[in-house]
Amino acid sequence: MVYDYAVIGGGIVGISAAWNLLRERPGGRIVVIEKERGLAQHQTGRNSGVIHAGVYYQPGSLKAKLCKEGAEETLRLCQRRAIPVERCGKLIVATNELELGRLAALEQRTRENAIAFERLDQAELRRREPRISGLRAMFVPSTAIVDYSKVTQALADEFVQGGGEIRTGECVNGVREEKEHVAIDTSRESHRARRAVACAGLFADRVARWCGVGDDFRIVPFRGEYYRLGTDKNNIVSHLIYPVPDPGLPFLGVHLTRMIGGYVTVGPNAVLSFKREGYGRLAFDARDAADTLLYAGFWRLAQQNLRSGAGEFMNSLLKRRYLAQCRKYCPELTVGDLQSHPPGVRAQAVMADGSIVHDFLIRRTRRTIHVCNAPSPAATSALPIGREVARQAAALDA
Ligand SMILES: Cc1cc2nc3c(=O)[nH]c(=O)nc-3n(C[C@H](O)[C@H](O)[C@H](O)COP(=O)(O)OP(=O)(O)OC[C@H]3O[C@@H](n4cnc5c(N)ncnc54)[C@H](O)[C@@H]3O)c2cc1C
Repeated sequence: MVYDYAVIGGGIVGISAAWNLLRERPGGRIVVIEKERGLAQHQTGRNSGVIHAGVYYQPGSLKAKLCKEGAEETLRLCQRRAIPVERCGKLIVATNELELGRLAALEQRTRENAIAFERLDQAELRRREPRISGLRAMFVPSTAIVDYSKVTQALADEFVQGGGEIRTGECVNGVREEKEHVAIDTSRESHRARRAVACAGLFADRVARWCGVGDDFRIVPFRGEYYRLGTDKNNIVSHLIYPVPDPGLPFLGVHLTRMIGGYVTVGPNAVLSFKREGYGRLAFDARDAADTLLYAGFWRLAQQNLRSGAGEFMNSLLKRRYLAQCRKYCPELTVGDLQSHPPGVRAQAVMADGSIVHDFLIRRTRRTIHVCNAPSPAATSALPIGREVARQAAALDA
């Protein structure tokens, strides 16, 4: 059998792409191939669960556009499918002069992105969050939380009900573009499809390289480590609490996140990982490590970020240092409050010149489409990213 579309990767982006492709082509033969036994086992199932409003992103970028659309569409999907969501809103808290300046720039960007927010002075911040201290804060009411594994499963169920096929426990080992079809070799068999869509997350660059569109960037994996607060701290905050991010880095800083299960996490940090899908502190894979350490782009990036990289590494090793980042705005927390919580690993594309790819990046060949860079807020944006993939697929078909 020749499939119309084969989608590689059963994270939220792959499942959304498949769901959107089927919506555009009811009755189409579409298969998702996922190497794990279940869906959403990597970034999608190991994140902060935040439905971002879209305040941070460069106006006019794909991230700014698709995050805003994605947030609304995710909330609608959750309502339609009765998936629990909490619209708790978020506070971005400035704690020093430098951050006050950065917060003002962030407010300006938020205006440009047409997202509603409120400016809170110190007294108002205290009133709304008595256990948080800061000089000023920005309140973004539309930020919400969800369990993205549930969102992925809901889309997967609709995809299968509509006639789509999901093959789990099958690893794609090679993709070849032939004249009339794409050959996809897996750990079980060889499939043929008219088109293929790659949404391989932490392995996006390797799949892109098979098709000739992955030579100028590489995925560098950054582990995001979390702690969980004890149940006595479940109500320590009623919003999500974020620091003001460093505009030079793609990460948002260690935040206090209310989770859909009712507890609160602290994190994530961002530490270089020597295994793409490795979750222990000592996780190591020779090929993954070589891919990073033999990549000139990584060393250029490292040179530019030596201080922050070393700081993150030390914060990862020393709980007290890690905690200090959070105590800046939540001083009552102690090391004893930090309990273990599973980490995630982010897939971040880095170009050969050492620049971080900030925006989502989608590339295509004659018969294949590759989601090459889908870091945060790609879970929030997954529905419109999938729609964009389906739009580009229609262009391939034309
Ligand atoms: C710590 C952390 C916190 C985050 N917080 C948020 C947040 O709060 N809000 C937000 O919007 N975003 C957040 N993100 C980002 C978000 O989780 C990701 O952008 C999103 O999940 C990416 O989805 P994906 O489907 O591209 O990747 P993944 O979920 O990683 O899925 C890729 C899939 O491809 C499969 N695969 C790879 N190679 C192959 C192969 N050869 N054959 C078959 N299958 C293959 C993998 O097994 C995997 O299931 C966070 C990410 C992390 C790591």
